Amino acid sequence: MSGAAALAPTSSALLRPIESVPLVGSTRAKVFHALGVKTLGDLLEYFPRDYQFESSELPISQLVDNQIQTVRGEVVAVDYIPSRPRPRFEATLDDGTEKLSLTWFHGAYLRGRIHPGMTVRVQGKVSFFRNIPRMVQAKWEVVDGDTARIEEAKFRPVYPASLRLPSELIQKIVEQNLGDALAEVEEWFDPALLAKRGVLPRREAYRAIHLPKDLNEAMRARRRIIYDELMLMQVGLGISKRLREGRITAPVMRLDKLLDGRIRARFPFALTAAQQNAVWEIARDLGSGKPMNRLLQGDVGSGKTVVALYAMLTGVANRLQAVLLAPTEVLAEQHYLTLGNMLAGSNVSIGLFTGRTKRQKKTTGLKDLASGKLHLAVGTQALIQEDVEFANLGLVVVDEQHKLGVRQRAVLKSKGLAPHYLVMTATPIPRTLALSFFADFDVSVIDALPPGRQPIQTRWLRAGQADTAYAFIRKEVQAGRQAYIVLPQIDDNGLEDSKSVRKEHDRLGKGPLAGLRLAALHGQMKTEEKQEIMTAFRDRQTDVLIATTVIEVGIDVPNATVIVIDNAERFGLSQLHQLRGRVGRGSESSYCLLISDPPNEHTEARLRAMTQTTDGFEIAEMDLKLRGPGEFFGTRQHGLPEFKLADVTNEMELLHQAKEDALALLTEDPRLTHPTHRHLRMALSKQLGDSLALAQIG
Ligand code: ADP
Ligand code: MG
Repeated sequence: MSGAAALAPTSSALLRPIESVPLVGSTRAKVFHALGVKTLGDLLEYFPRDYQFESSELPISQLVDNQIQTVRGEVVAVDYIPSRPRPRFEATLDDGTEKLSLTWFHGAYLRGRIHPGMTVRVQGKVSFFRNIPRMVQAKWEVVDGDTARIEEAKFRPVYPASLRLPSELIQKIVEQNLGDALAEVEEWFDPALLAKRGVLPRREAYRAIHLPKDLNEAMRARRRIIYDELMLMQVGLGISKRLREGRITAPVMRLDKLLDGRIRARFPFALTAAQQNAVWEIARDLGSGKPMNRLLQGDVGSGKTVVALYAMLTGVANRLQAVLLAPTEVLAEQHYLTLGNMLAGSNVSIGLFTGRTKRQKKTTGLKDLASGKLHLAVGTQALIQEDVEFANLGLVVVDEQHKLGVRQRAVLKSKGLAPHYLVMTATPIPRTLALSFFADFDVSVIDALPPGRQPIQTRWLRAGQADTAYAFIRKEVQAGRQAYIVLPQIDDNGLEDSKSVRKEHDRLGKGPLAGLRLAALHGQMKTEEKQEIMTAFRDRQTDVLIATTVIEVGIDVPNATVIVIDNAERFGLSQLHQLRGRVGRGSESSYCLLISDPPNEHTEARLRAMTQTTDGFEIAEMDLKLRGPGEFFGTRQHGLPEFKLADVTNEMELLHQAKEDALALLTEDPRLTHPTHRHLRMALSKQLGDSLALAQIG
């Protein structure tokens, strides 16, 4: 949500370019731009990341126990005590009234920087030790006679800053311009609602988040702004849900026993009970006349593809086209092959559309889509562009993306299409997110794997134990099975110290895995080359595939029983889980070996989680906790609203309240035509832009 836009749709101070704001010249404007601040409105929404209490300077003799205080004085002695485990740097400060003792643990870096004779100002919590006041890990700065004393205790914001634009300067600029900006901050909600939730008025919140008189006020301001972020989302979701349930109709797809039998006959196996359930739920939606908006959730390898194919074929039998959108070209190709195999010998025609599809083939393909000659299309999201025409699109399936992009939806809508949507994901949506982002989705869960699967055993090895992994691969290959080795990068670019596919292919072939048939696979290869390598691996002409994460999704070779993930610290938790899902697809026991010397606790937690559970749901919850929702969904590609402040994992209660309030608000004022909601309405249409819901509000 762009700040200025959300706040003020008409021409206003909030839209004033940052370079013309007092105290900001063109040089500072550039830095602001880099921070995402282009207008005064953006600046208003450039929130402090923290607050700092600055106490007035006191004589050392007046310090009291257990309070954060500030003094200045001359350094009269320094000492470095290197004793383990906590080496420390010590200094003594004298201001003429008393002495203050200062300690910094792990303070070796201070040796060259603080020395006797200099005057410093320090701030920290005071404690008394043998009647001598002392500060540990104090904040310090060098001052001289010209440095003004801090006379007044102050509570001030700390902004996300850069070297060229320090927090104090941002604070000064905000302070000077806050009046102009605040004048245009308008209330969104009824006073009664604000009173009920005990939140600050909106304008007051924007003032207080920048200029709070104390931490309490800052936190109240924050709460109001988070409430607004959540409300904006909930009202938006509520409107789009109402629209779908109300006026919009989607093509009715009929399904009977005969058709059901014909579709099933296409699959080389019987559906599991879990798949069967999902199929029923989907079929009910498709026949309802209202657009389906369903999330098909099932762990890696649970068999979502045939469920999607079932839905697509239901469409084809009803003379409607279907498209399947994959997150990457490789996966689109893989789907194209899988579906093609199952449809061999049928009358159903299927086309592949990726960036690599030859121009001429694409032109013909697009023509066939427009005429209806092509029944199914497989591609990446780029397939849905302005220049694509459908004869009769009935269903859009999106694989391993969390939503259809807003843009794609808008394109379809502009063509007057209201297809059914099915979104497939192996990442279970944690409850917190299901409540918020996915509130307008119905959910089907495939909660069991196809029969005969063995649980995957996961081990974590240190880099020094890599040979254990190679020996294990040899053993499995000897037993007639195959292995993957996954690495974080294709080439060594010399900058990073992680292993690469090319180097490892070389090294392993000469050393630890000499004599085995190795192949390398990565995303920069041509489609045909990749396909050859994959086919050779599937046909057991190679033993070990050394690859980047191109194998993350979709690759399906049941005879592969080991996956070694090297430099595992470089992968996210959900990604590791996806990679692990490449094995355990056959009836043999499978293994995942993680090689890593984790650099920090976070990474260690990830690796430990991998060894402790194979449950995708637990993994997702943990991943969300470790990373937060933004990164969890892959930044910016997810089509989800970006929050400036709200962290939905921590704001559960407020989220519940917002959901309840949004519902009540829409019941009372479904089209937001009440004058009280004028500004809410404007903010909403700005935020939702061209997506489905908006156009319908106005
Ligand atoms: P994902 O849910 O990860 O997309 P896929 O659809 O790729 O899973 O299916 C994983 C593997 O399981 C594929 O090899 C597929 O052919 C197989 N499979 C799917 N459903 C069944 C089933 N009912 N019985 C046996 N194998 C199945
Ligand atoms: Mg899949």
